[in-house]
Amino acid sequence: MAVDIDCVVLGAGVVGLAVARELALAGREVLLVEAAEAIGTGTSSRNSEVIHAGIYYPQNSLKARLCVAGKHKLYAYCAERGIPHRRLGKLIVAADPQQTQRLAQIAERAALNGVDDLYQISGVQARELEPALCCDAALVSPSTGIIDSHALMLTLQGDAENHGTQCVFHTRFSSGRILDSGEFLLRFEGAEAMEITAHSVVNACGLSAPAMARKLVGQPAEQIPDAYFCRGNYFTLAGKAPFSRLIYPMPDHAGLGVHLTLDLGGQAKFGPDTEWIENEDYTLDARRGDSFYAAVRRYWPDLPDGALNPGYTGIRPKISGPHSPAADFVIAGPAIHGVRNLVNLFGIESPGLTACLAIAEATRAALGDPATSDQTP
Ligand SMILES: Cc1cc2nc3c(=O)[nH]c(=O)nc-3n(C[C@H](O)[C@H](O)[C@H](O)COP(=O)(O)OP(=O)(O)OC[C@H]3O[C@@H](n4cnc5c(N)ncnc54)[C@H](O)[C@@H]3O)c2cc1C
Repeated sequence: MAVDIDCVVLGAGVVGLAVARELALAGREVLLVEAAEAIGTGTSSRNSEVIHAGIYYPQNSLKARLCVAGKHKLYAYCAERGIPHRRLGKLIVAADPQQTQRLAQIAERAALNGVDDLYQISGVQARELEPALCCDAALVSPSTGIIDSHALMLTLQGDAENHGTQCVFHTRFSSGRILDSGEFLLRFEGAEAMEITAHSVVNACGLSAPAMARKLVGQPAEQIPDAYFCRGNYFTLAGKAPFSRLIYPMPDHAGLGVHLTLDLGGQAKFGPDTEWIENEDYTLDARRGDSFYAAVRRYWPDLPDGALNPGYTGIRPKISGPHSPAADFVIAGPAIHGVRNLVNLFGIESPGLTACLAIAEATRAALGDPATSDQTP
């Protein structure tokens, strides 16, 4: 049967945009459908805007491989396209001698991931770089940086559209099924309410990706993970930033600790912390700021009382709960669920922004070559 469209990408966050661009550049016809009124209103505009080096992730995990590959692609893309970014570098700080012993393990893990530019410095050397810093020792990560994520998304959208991608907004994927022919019948509600058939589908719905996969009937339900939401709260610093590099404490279980990041305007913010929640709720409880003071003063003792203001929140789209080991990214293509021409992107939490171009390339590979993918078992 004739299909209405070759590829449908669901969700116009940074990942959906990167996937749409990747497919369009490969010559595919792409329809990018977004429930909200604009690109990147979800997790993609509620994060730290850090280009991560790829330090902490387990060796050979998708997070490790796609972060390191994505970082190189992203710096090159930013340079080529004039996307505002800065390679500021970051310090991972050990508060005491016990933590200092763990720095070597972090550097070893990073090296296994292909991040071989980390080096350790003493507390004295750290204070020469950042006079306000208090620590026993630190690891320097020169390749960590910051990026204007909205400029990145606009550039991705521009590239995708210049290669024929059609973007529709205010339009929500509501249900669908896999037809006997292997094509997809998709229904959408909202501004562009429609029912269309597509040859290929990429589910880049972020927090809703597992729920949307369940609405696309015909794929094995056991391959769809449960979704868990872990809110990260940010507090901004009133006044001038005390540091010129990003400052991270030692990582904890669900996140990277209450760290200091800077935006391109030089504004400092602290966070995100970790708060497991049930629903997509971005409310920030200002009282959580109280615990930030103690966490931040471990590395910046001079933080004045009352200097932290409620900033914003973001929600990590997790697929493992608070008592399980952190899950890897899942790029669920035919090799995982057995359905041709379908890729679900699950658990694309940090470093999804850094890795977006590499995730897009992996997604195109998972979809396969359209000329041959119909013969794929
Ligand atoms: C607190 C926090 C800090 C982070 N910091 C960093 C960082 O510093 N560096 C880094 O590399 N990564 C970071 N990340 C991770 C990064 O932000 C995400 O990996 C990335 O933004 C995910 O993009 P996405 O496109 O998959 O999801 P989203 O941006 O959430 O996009 C999904 C889109 O799908 C749409 N959608 C949902 N349902 C439907 C539907 N039914 N129909 C149509 N559209 C739908 C939504 O409206 C949304 O626009 C952080 C994440 C969090 C939560």
